[in-house]
Amino acid sequence: MSRYWSAVVHDLTPYVPGEQPKLANLVKLNTNENPYGPSPRVLDAVRAEAADTLRLYPDPGSDRLCAAIAALHGVAAEQVFVGNGSDEVLAHAFLALLKHEWPILFPDISYSFYPVYCGLYEIAYRQIPLTESFEIRVGDYLSPNGGVIFPNPNAPTGRLLALPEIECLLDGNPDSVVVIDEAYIDFGGESAVGLVARYPQLLVTRTLSKSHALAGLRVGYAIGQAHLIEALKRVKDSFNSYPLDRLAQAGALASIEDHAYFESLCARVMASRTRLASAMAEIGFEVLPSTANFIFARHPSHDGAELAASLRERRIIVRHFKNPARIAPFLRITVGTDAQIDALLAALKAIVNC
Ligand SMILES: *Cc1c(COP(=O)(O)O)cnc(C)c1O
Repeated sequence: MSRYWSAVVHDLTPYVPGEQPKLANLVKLNTNENPYGPSPRVLDAVRAEAADTLRLYPDPGSDRLCAAIAALHGVAAEQVFVGNGSDEVLAHAFLALLKHEWPILFPDISYSFYPVYCGLYEIAYRQIPLTESFEIRVGDYLSPNGGVIFPNPNAPTGRLLALPEIECLLDGNPDSVVVIDEAYIDFGGESAVGLVARYPQLLVTRTLSKSHALAGLRVGYAIGQAHLIEALKRVKDSFNSYPLDRLAQAGALASIEDHAYFESLCARVMASRTRLASAMAEIGFEVLPSTANFIFARHPSHDGAELAASLRERRIIVRHFKNPARIAPFLRITVGTDAQIDALLAALKAIVNC
């Protein structure tokens, strides 16, 4: 009955998120969730918020949360925007800041939600090939454009672009917005937030989904100069005044405030990443250097899709991308617990016969 659909809906190609399987006892390494739980203080805060006050609307501006995020990053509260996951923050950025006459630019291998937002908001885009070694070359992004966006570290490669390179891009591209999607920056990268004061066109987005182990709470944010944040707020207040419910605001605030727990989470994941990457290299995989909570790896004599299917038969789920063809040999594997990594390595050894 699609005759009732709008023309826009007819033409959409929606994003397909990594599978959330209903089966029990799976080793789930496909969507870059944190293998450890959130801070106990988050759970206490959410429980305390589950009260009679749920009959009341939440604070539409999430003011306490914005103030805590501002204090964390040493910026003013009007330089912070929060949303229902960074996906929502990004969606608003596409409409508020990236929809102009010129096409926007992003890497050919990158977060596959970007072209989906372009489809939804009818924004033209041009994909810039990564180098042979899957790196972003900032000189490739200096042609006239309606904006630039990429994750740093990039997804699904895990490769980090150094901060001086981002400064070069900002210096060479003063006339359109540059969005740095820092979904994975907490796992060893250096944030561009410190550049916000000097660059009026820079917007940095973050999520609590990965490094704070709160994918289920749906909280993300952006940091930029107040004029960029104002544009995001205009879109938000034309769409949904209450993107963060009471539980999300309370839980996110508690997580931001429990800095010691957060740091221990990141340290554990980074230590496990080192172990996983070297063990995979030992059994013949080529592993790209990762600054994220996942690794991107291929085996010289095994097809990526076949490896993913063989792992699945052993109840281990990883992410495989068919396109572009250049990354079809690769698997994107989330850094799990020690036990999950042991199970993965045992299965891979059996599959590649070593
Ligand atoms: C996970 C991810 C996001 C979205 O995070 P949410 O806050 O869970 O919506 C955004 N960008 C990239 C590159 C991601 O990997």
